[in-house]
Formats: sequence, C-alpha cells, structure tokens
Amino acid sequence: MTDILKSTLPTDTLKKFLTTDKSTRIQALHLSHAWQTGLAHQDLPPVVIRLLGELAAASVLLAGNIKFDGSVVLQLQGNGPVRLIMVECTAALGLRATAHLRDEMPIPENSTLQQLMNPDGLGRFTVLLDPAAEQAGASTYQGIVPLEGETVAAVLEHYMKHSEQLDTRLWLAADADACGGLLLQRMPGEPDATGTPQDSDSAQATWEHCQALAATIKAPELLASGNPDALIHKLFWEDDLLAFPEQDIRWHCPCTRERVANMLRSLGRPEVESILEEQGHVHIACNFCGKPYDFDAVDCATLFIDPDDMMPAPGSRSVH
Ligand SMILES: [Zn+2]
Repeated sequence: MTDILKSTLPTDTLKKFLTTDKSTRIQALHLSHAWQTGLAHQDLPPVVIRLLGELAAASVLLAGNIKFDGSVVLQLQGNGPVRLIMVECTAALGLRATAHLRDEMPIPENSTLQQLMNPDGLGRFTVLLDPAAEQAGASTYQGIVPLEGETVAAVLEHYMKHSEQLDTRLWLAADADACGGLLLQRMPGEPDATGTPQDSDSAQATWEHCQALAATIKAPELLASGNPDALIHKLFWEDDLLAFPEQDIRWHCPCTRERVANMLRSLGRPEVESILEEQGHVHIACNFCGKPYDFDAVDCATLFIDPDDMMPAPGSRSVH
C-alpha cells in the first residue's frame, strides 16, 4: 500500500463513495498535472499557493455533488496582503483558480489564513452556485458569510454547517506540485411525518467511525496519493463502501487568443495603435489564469481588416 501511496503518476481524479448504510458520503481527490498547468503563469508565494490549492480542492469536492449544469465558485476576500482567492469548478470538473495580492504588503512565510486575508475581521467568504447560462429558469445562488476559521477547511466546514445545515468534514493539502483533499459529509436521513430528516443512532455511529478514521490523515499523504482510491482504501480498508466511477478533473480557463482579439477590437484601432507605438507590441495576460497573449504589429493590423476585404490566398478556393 505504501508503494501505491508514493506513486507519482499524474492523476487528476475525483473518487466518490458512500457507506453501505448510505448515511455518509466519502470523497477524495488528487490533482497534479491539472494543478501544475493552472499555476504555470501565476507567480505566487508558497503560502498563497497552499491556500489557493486547498480552496481549489474544496471546490472540486463540492462540484462533484451539484445537481445542475453549472459551476461552484468559492471566493475568499479581505483587507490583508492577499486581496482575493477565487476558484471555480464546473459540474464536469473543469477547474480554474486565481489569487490577487496587494503589491505593497509583504507576505511572510508561515502566515495564517486570518493574517493573510482578514487582519481587520471584515473578510468575507462567498459561495456562488452558477447555473450554465443556457438553462432557462435556473437562477444563481449566492451565500456570503464572515471569513471565520483558521484554515480553508475550517471556513468551509463552518459554512456548510451554518448555511447548508450539512455536517461536513474536510482535510485539504496543497503545494506547487499537487493538491489533495478528502471530504466526509453526513447525508440527510429519511424525513418523518413532519418532513424533518431523522438521524438514526446507527447513522450517528457511522459518521463518528468515518471521522475517527479520516482524522488520522496527514498532509503528506494527501499530497502523495497519486490515486485517490489508494488513499480511501488505506483509511477505510475494514469497511465495505459503495464506489462510484472515477471522474477526471481538468484545468479549464475559457480564455483564448480569439477572445483577447475581440477585446482588442472593442478597444478600437486608435487605442491599439497607441499601445503599439509605445511598447512595440501588445501584451495581455488573462486576468484569471495569467496566460500571456502577445500581438505584434502585423497581428494588430490583421485585427482591423474587414474579412470581406481579405484576398483569398493563391490557389485557395472560396468556401462561400
Ligand atoms: Zn485564462
């Protein structure tokens, strides 16, 4: 088992389980390639990468359970050296994540979440459930609560308990190479005659049993477990669990060169030409993932050519 846990194969997967009495949900994920792709153009200090990765892992664990086509957006915001940490994960497990810092404020290594984001106690944690645009009748849900808790896991647990009335436990870990996460969630019991969910003693025992096993997990194990299955089997090897098919997670930021080109067109030719004159080229980085897009003078000239005026290349045939 140890050998499996030490596997460094890149796996970007979410694995979901239920206890056989269906009273507790168990989920684990491990991200490596997708996470490294997402950080490729983001220059962040290690302590911020850890917070961002933990929030990213949490968003995947929550997005794995949404019942609509859309996305889960989690956002930490405050007046400390880290202004904003924001992650988005779609129901299909497309993930993106970004952090915005206050340049003038130093970020000491080993800072806590509260020191980095909430020195004045005015920080906020926002959960947004955002249905895909084309779904008629679906509306966006937004919950905003004070930023309470010393860790990303504690912030989320607090939110789930007080805003969603769901007992949830999270173990999260992240560094520049990988993210790992484990979620336990108590499923609502069968409703009684008044519609109030009933919790049986045996469901309570299952919940406590799962928490006791999961509590032994350490951050290095969450980060090293290339395969979330191996992590679950290590913790719950004595229990029969109902397993669901593994789901792939991928990094997905919708920015494209074409979108940036459209943005430049909307700026207008004089504005683009003045940037060209000043800098020799137009350099734009995606506001979310930091991916750079570069347009030289020829690229910029092509932006403003009416497609109808373009001459077909010699030998090419019209497709009209
Ligand atoms: Zn992007």
